[in-house]
Amino acid sequence: MELAALTKTRLIDMSESNCLFCKIVSGEMATEFVAETDNTLVFKDIWPVAKVHLLVIPKQHYSDVAELAQNAPVILSEVLKTATEMAREYTAGSFKLQFNTGAEAGQTVFHAHAHVLSDTEKDGS
Ligand code: 5GP
Ligand code: ZN
Repeated sequence: MELAALTKTRLIDMSESNCLFCKIVSGEMATEFVAETDNTLVFKDIWPVAKVHLLVIPKQHYSDVAELAQNAPVILSEVLKTATEMAREYTAGSFKLQFNTGAEAGQTVFHAHAHVLSDTEKDGS
C-alpha cells in the first residue's frame, strides 16, 4: 500500500471530539483557508485527485451529508452555494461535486464535506 493511502486509512474516526475537520475549524490543526462564509470553510484537499480539488465543510459537526440534510438543510444549502461559487472562481465551468457517504463509499473523514473536483482550471491550463 502506498504511503498516502496508508496514512489516509489512519484518519478514520467517527467521533466529533476527535474529528480532524473540527480541529481545522477550531484552528487546532493549522490549515490555509481558500474561503470562509458564516457557516462554511473551504480548503484544498491535502491529496488532490484533480487539478482543482477543494473541500467545502460546514463549521458545525455533522458526520455526513445525510445527517447534514436531515438536521440542518439551510447549512447544506450554504455548503452547496459555497461549492458552486468556488467552482465559478477556480474552474472553467465544468466540475464534479461529490459527497462520499459511508466508509464503503470511500468516506474517510466523518465530518460532512463536499469535494469540488475539476481538471479544467479557470485559466485554461
Ligand atoms: P473523504 O475520503 O472522507 O470523502 O474525503 C476526505 C478528504 O480529506 C480526502 O480526500 C483527504 O485527502 C482529505 N484530507 C485528509 N486529511 C486532510 C488534512 O489534514 N488536510 C486536508 N486539507 N485534507 C485532508
Ligand atoms: Zn467534525
